[in-house]
Amino acid sequence: MILYINNEDRMSLDRRWLLRHFLIAALAFLLAATMVACNGGERPGRRPNAAIRVVTSTTIIADWVSQIAGDRVGVVSLVPNRVDPHGFVPGPKDVAQVAAAGLVFTIGLNLESGWMDKLLKNAAADPSRVIALGDHVDPVPFQGQPDHDEADKEKDEYGPKDPHFWQDPLRVKKVLPVIAARLGQLDPDGAEVYRARAGDYGRQLDDLHRWAEQQFQAIPKERRLLVTSHEAFGYLAHAYGFRLVGTVIPGGSTAREPSAADLARLVGEIKSYRVPAVFAETILNDRLARRIADEAGVRIVTDLYSDALGEQGSDADTYLGMVRHNVRVVAENLKAR
Ligand SMILES: [Zn+2]
Repeated sequence: MILYINNEDRMSLDRRWLLRHFLIAALAFLLAATMVACNGGERPGRRPNAAIRVVTSTTIIADWVSQIAGDRVGVVSLVPNRVDPHGFVPGPKDVAQVAAAGLVFTIGLNLESGWMDKLLKNAAADPSRVIALGDHVDPVPFQGQPDHDEADKEKDEYGPKDPHFWQDPLRVKKVLPVIAARLGQLDPDGAEVYRARAGDYGRQLDDLHRWAEQQFQAIPKERRLLVTSHEAFGYLAHAYGFRLVGTVIPGGSTAREPSAADLARLVGEIKSYRVPAVFAETILNDRLARRIADEAGVRIVTDLYSDALGEQGSDADTYLGMVRHNVRVVAENLKAR
């Protein structure tokens, strides 16, 4: 079939064709921009087009690397904001990210309990490019709950050492030269920049530590008692003189379901130590923590950041912001009234 189209119609058809394609292109652009914006909030991938690509297990490490690397490096965290790194399940996209990465920074000390080893194997990652930062902080054992004996600490659920060293800013200072040196090996032109930026960031961590000490002075010694969702605050306790009275989830990970006896014992400890509040963590469901606080008749606080940063745009979307938030929340809820 042949259709006769006069010139005027052809012009109008061309215009409509152009208009339609322009609209489709504009819609596609808007959709892509929205998707980038949404993904940015969920899984921080900074400067994905940078020549050097670094993958980290957690958002907290991604922030340290970004602070040191500035614009020179693209950093992607495998575990998104507000997600528990202990029980993370990586997908095919994560294998591709690791395979393409120049360096992979992890916490180690069993934080990424097994999933990281499998992921590195699936991505055929060169072991010399994988750095476990926990090996550089002089880690200490889990404290466990006060009435747990040594036998409990030997159970598999506790790693050999407590991986949550980032809750003490001065221990984080120890990993900055390691990150700077490894970035400098990969990108010798940037080595001096990395060293200098690591030094600046280290001084900010010193300031953060002094500020935290001042804030915690508002809490009398007998009220420096912590009950949290899981045992993520041993280093904070160690650095600032808190006692870990207990955790909702027993063991050093987030894997175990507490028994009715575990929960009853924790309620009893909260009462006998006169713990002022229960702190639920943002990476975990707060249902059990609420129940325990309710049964013990104490306050529940639900916004403590343990193993992951907060969402982009929140006051805890950087490591410094996260620690400041936690210090304020703990001081506010435990200080004398
Ligand atoms: Zn943890």
